[in-house]
Amino acid sequence: MDYQPLITTLLDARADAWTQLLPQQLARAFEPAKHGTLFQWQALIEQLPEARCGDSVLDADAVRIGRPEDLGDEARKQLEAQLKILHPWRKGPYDLFGIHIDTEWRSDWKWERLKNHISPLANRLVLDVGCGNGYHCWRMLGAGARMVVGIDPLLLNVMQFQAIRKLHGEAPVYVLPIGMEEVPYGLKLFDTVFSMGVLYHRRSPVDHLLELKESLRPGGELVLETLVIDGGPGQVLVPEGRYACMRNVWFLPTCDTLTGWMKRCGFTNIRVVDVTVTSTEEQRTTEWMTFHSLKDFLDPDDPTLTREGLPAPKRAIIIANPA
Ligand code: SAH
Repeated sequence: MDYQPLITTLLDARADAWTQLLPQQLARAFEPAKHGTLFQWQALIEQLPEARCGDSVLDADAVRIGRPEDLGDEARKQLEAQLKILHPWRKGPYDLFGIHIDTEWRSDWKWERLKNHISPLANRLVLDVGCGNGYHCWRMLGAGARMVVGIDPLLLNVMQFQAIRKLHGEAPVYVLPIGMEEVPYGLKLFDTVFSMGVLYHRRSPVDHLLELKESLRPGGELVLETLVIDGGPGQVLVPEGRYACMRNVWFLPTCDTLTGWMKRCGFTNIRVVDVTVTSTEEQRTTEWMTFHSLKDFLDPDDPTLTREGLPAPKRAIIIANPA
């Protein structure tokens, strides 16, 4: 990966605090000793073919890169086998040279729910916090963003992104192997910041909201998506143990509680634009993600409850601006 265009953009925006740290952050995350399979993944990505310029469609439900006719049957079989090595594929779908990657999540449904509510992304500098393998980053680029910087601490996600980026070729989109805590506080840089599916993983959700606010330029826009529960102001669920079989779930507020936290953190113009119960059509086991999925995490006798007897996953999308 060539990070120079990203570094140039950050320098132009006077985000020196980050350009100085970034080389160390990358070196640390890609430290071979930290990850036994890193070399194998990198060698695999090296070998992948590259699509012809202009053969990609990023504003489609399945992000499409390369055309089926550009690869012979043998080469396509080989590509499919290589991509399967990067299992599990959680976020998508993708259509890569005619190979349909049917991911665990229909991430396009989330995009569909939010796309008409956000400020147009044309020419915007975007941060996607907890971007997974970068599916929405491609959609943001497809919607005209000037540059998209995704961050995700899970290295397999970064490798899946790099594989797709190799197939696509050079583009102003990055997925960096870091968590939000590592982005220098107070950059006041990005036009739009997305944080989707991250807040409930944070032990301190209020600090996460402050980090998000401080990464936005004045007048910028936050798009927040997280698990919520029904109820009124002040109510919040903190699971005692697991939630839907996940070990790392901390705070599930009501929409009112979350709106209250956001106000306290200095957000204004806070709008809940969507609340949707996650269905077993949206999150499910597939050929590209063969482990257990939502169906297995719900009470078999009552799908409105998780296995632990807590309210089943329901997600809200909230948009706001820094005051
Ligand atoms: N945003 C995507 C993916 C959500 S899954 C979507 O909405 O579909 C949540 C992701 O957040 C995971 O990939 C996880 O690795 C990442 N994550 C967890 N803690 C994080 C942190 N502190 N900073 C940034 N990302 C984090």
